[in-house]
Amino acid sequence: MRVYCPHCESKAVITSRQKLSTSVFDIYCSCTNVKECGATFVYVVAYKHDLNPPRGDVARLAAGVLKNIPKPMQIELLEDN
Ligand SMILES: [Zn+2]
Repeated sequence: MRVYCPHCESKAVITSRQKLSTSVFDIYCSCTNVKECGATFVYVVAYKHDLNPPRGDVARLAAGVLKNIPKPMQIELLEDN
C-alpha cells in the first residue's frame, strides 16, 4: 500500500497501525520529505465492498437460487455446462 503525505504529496511511510475493528485500521504515517515537511499523520483504512465475493458465498447463493426452481429445470441448467 502506497501512502502519500496529505500536505506536500510526497511519499510517506507507515510507521504503525492500530486495529479498530476487523475491517477498519488507523495507520500512522510519516512524510519522507523530511527537509521541507516532515509531517506525521493518521489515515483510516476501511473495507468498502467486494469486487468478487468469496467463492463460498457464490456457491451458497447459487444453491439457494437452484433450490427455488423446479427439478427438471435444475437438471437442465446443470447439464448446460
Ligand atoms: Zn509532507
